[in-house]
Order: sequence, then structure tokens, then C-alpha cells
Amino acid sequence: MPDTANEKTLNSLSLSVDQTLVERPSISFDNLENTFGSRSLAEIRRAYLLFKTLGNPLVVKLGSTLAGFALNSGLPIKGLIRKTIFSQFCGGEDIADCNQTVSRLAQSGIGSILDYSVEGKGSEAEFEASCREIIATVQRAAGDSHIPFSVFKVTGLARFELLEKLSDGEALSADEDREFHRIRERVNRICEAAFKARVRIFIDAEESWIQPAIDSLATEMMEQYNRTDFVVYNTIQLYRHDRLTYFKDSANEAAQKGYLLGVKLVRGAYMEKERSRAEKQDKPSPIQPDKSASDRDYNQALRFALDHIDRIAICAGTHNEHSSLLLADLMTERGIDPGDKRIYFSQLLGMSDHISFNLAKAGYNVAKYVPYGPVEAVLPYLIRRAQENTSIAGQTGRELSLLTAEMKRRNRL
Ligand SMILES: Cc1cc2nc3c(=O)[nH]c(=O)nc-3n(C[C@H](O)[C@H](O)[C@H](O)COP(=O)(O)OP(=O)(O)OC[C@H]3O[C@@H](n4cnc5c(N)ncnc54)[C@H](O)[C@@H]3O)c2cc1C
Repeated sequence: MPDTANEKTLNSLSLSVDQTLVERPSISFDNLENTFGSRSLAEIRRAYLLFKTLGNPLVVKLGSTLAGFALNSGLPIKGLIRKTIFSQFCGGEDIADCNQTVSRLAQSGIGSILDYSVEGKGSEAEFEASCREIIATVQRAAGDSHIPFSVFKVTGLARFELLEKLSDGEALSADEDREFHRIRERVNRICEAAFKARVRIFIDAEESWIQPAIDSLATEMMEQYNRTDFVVYNTIQLYRHDRLTYFKDSANEAAQKGYLLGVKLVRGAYMEKERSRAEKQDKPSPIQPDKSASDRDYNQALRFALDHIDRIAICAGTHNEHSSLLLADLMTERGIDPGDKRIYFSQLLGMSDHISFNLAKAGYNVAKYVPYGPVEAVLPYLIRRAQENTSIAGQTGRELSLLTAEMKRRNRL
């Protein structure tokens, strides 16, 4: 019922979309030349060794525990981390350090999204420093077409417990109220800087129990800065069973209030944590019952966005080949040019280059997250990447088979 109401309001506001069927540019995710052309043989071998190591869950488990301990105890392993996992998944230790990665990706028509990946900070001074750093990424992106977006996490600017309290709708003390105003002011400072610099900015999605506070800040910012152009993008996690409806409701609200909706569509990164918390609290899990339900809603979200593309801009943040091809097909069906700036594809640095490089080659807009920060500080991010890549059956298997094929191809050359 609410869906039908949404469709009506949006359809009455949407302009008609050209339905001419043109042929989709040819895309082959198996094209090794495009995928690895910009990499040296040494880099390919290093990536192969790294993914092979990550494919061993025991090594990852031990490594994750020991790395933090060794760094904290001053053992000299920083160099080793920097040369291996850090150089695969991060652009550098600061913004200037990332220039090389930005240029390398730009040569293949791929944009960079500088992602200050320092986590677990908790003091007001640290939140202020993060805010200034994120504004610096916006300023670095200003006027540089190779850096089409900036990004931030609200937990980099705010105390987790306060976001949780806000999300629960609990009353705040006078001190907490002042704290919340400072958070809002930081988020506003970043979004205002993005608006002035004409840089689009993503607000990442996080755990479901703090997401209402994040959604509310993101909505407020979109209402303020997305009046004539897409500046602020919220993130929708389709591994949650309530989020397709939330996406449609957000689109309806934006249409009614006269602002444009920017969304990054992802499946979601906190599945295990979400499920175990729900189980511990004896509450229903917010996560879909199975992977195919997440896939179904993700693909539905792509369709819904393209049906309302006059008022919605999207970034498909995914390593899923099927969803990426589906989006390209939907664009063709609707006569939308591959270079249309309302539609972006995005992957993380060091992962799924076969998707990024082949889509870019075919003329689609692609940008990769380029995480950066001091080695010690980005360790939690690196550990997540390592843990996510332990399954040979999934992502790692695909990376390894492509890297193996590329090494064989080079031997034949
Ligand atoms: C550019 C970019 C930005 C991102 N930003 C965010 C962000 O802001 N917030 C965030 O949370 N994540 C973010 N992610 C991570 C993302 O949510 C996914 O964890 C990751 O991309 C894997 O999903 P996939 O679509 O790439 O591919 P796939 O490999 O097809 O899907 C894996 C995903 O499917 C879902 N899934 C797996 N098994 C099940 C199951 N049994 N039941 C239900 N669902 C299941 C999970 O979400 C899992 O991560 C981002 C990813 C990218 C590439």
C-alpha cells in the first residue's frame, strides 16, 4: 500500500524517460588486458600471494590478533604491513600519499574517493580532527574530475553511545544535547564545504542501532544542500529487510519536499554483528533471511532508482558482477547514456578491479574508494578486508583465478 502511494507521487513529478532501446556497450569482466594492464608483473605476483594468504582463515585469525598486539608493543612490523596488505587496500598514509593511486586510476578513466579510514576515535578533539581531515578531502577533490566524491562515517565525528541513544529516541541530558549540536555542526560543516566546492559527498551506512540518527542527519543535509543538484548521498543497505521500503519512502519525502535524493546502494557490511546482537537480545534480526533476498532487494532498488532517475542519483557500491551488469542493462533499456553523472559504479581499492576497469573501459562512471590513514590507525579497516576475503569460495576465489590467468597470459606474451 505505501509503495503504491510512493509510485504515484514520484511518477507525477518525474519527467518521462526516453525508452529507446539502444545496444549496451560490450562489457567483459574476463578481459585481463583491461583489468591488469596498468599493473607490473611484480604487483600481480604480490597481489596473488596476498590473496592466497588471506584465503587461509587460520592465518587471518592469528594475523588479525597479532598485528594489533605487535604494533602496540612497538615491534617492527609496520614495514611488513605497509608492503603487503596496506599497499593492496590503501592509497597511503595521508592525502598527498594517495596522488599516485589517484593518477594510476585516472589513466584508466576511474575516479578515486578519498576515504579517511581512521576508526575507533572517541574524544571531542579527535572528532574535530577527523572533521578537519574530511574537509581536507573535499578541498582536495574540488575542481579535480578524477575525485568525483568524498565520503565520511558519522561515527568518525560522534560518540557511538550518543548515536545509539538518539536512535532509540531516548531523552538527552543537557550535556548530551550540547554534544549532539556539536555533531550536527560537524556534519553540516562537511556538507557545506562539499556544496561550496561542488563535490558530491557520501554518508556511509553503519550498524542498524545507530542508523536512525545517521539517516536523520543525512536527510536534513539533503534537504538543505540537494535543492538543485545532487550533493549529499545517504547509504541504503539492502541486506536489511526494511530498507527497500525505506528507500521508496525517502524518495517520496524528497519529492514532496522538493529536494533531490542521492543514494549509495550497498548490500551491507555488518551482517554477523547484526545477527548475533539480535539473537543475544532475543529480538527479530533486521537482516534478510538469506542472500537471495538481499540480492533481490538490491536489484529492485536499482530498478526503482532508474524508474525515478530524474529525481534520484545513485552509486552502486558493489562487487557483485550480476548487479553491475543488471544496472548497465537497465541504463540501456531506459536510453540512459553510460556517462550520465547520476549513475556511478563503485568498488573498493584492491578489490574487483575486473569490474571497475572493464566498466570504465566501456564508458561507465566508476570510482574506487581509496582508504588512507596512518598504518596503525587503518588496521581495523585492513582486518575487516582480510576477514571478508578468507572465503576461497567467494571474492578471494575470483581474485585468485583472475590473477592466475593474468600470470599465465604474461608468460605467453
Ligand atoms: C564502494 C563501496 C561502498 C560501501 N559502503 C558501505 C557502507 O556505507 N555501509 C555498509 O554497510 N557497507 C558498505 N559497503 C560494503 C557492502 O555493504 C558489502 O559488504 C560488500 O560490498 C559485499 O557485497 P557485494 O554487493 O559487493 O557483493 P556480494 O558478494 O554479492 O554480497 C555479499 C553481501 O551479501 C549479503 N549477504 C551475504 N550472505 C547473506 C545471507 N546469508 N543473508 C543475507 N544477506 C547476505 C551481505 O551484505 C554480504 O556483505 C560498501 C562497498 C563498496 C564496494
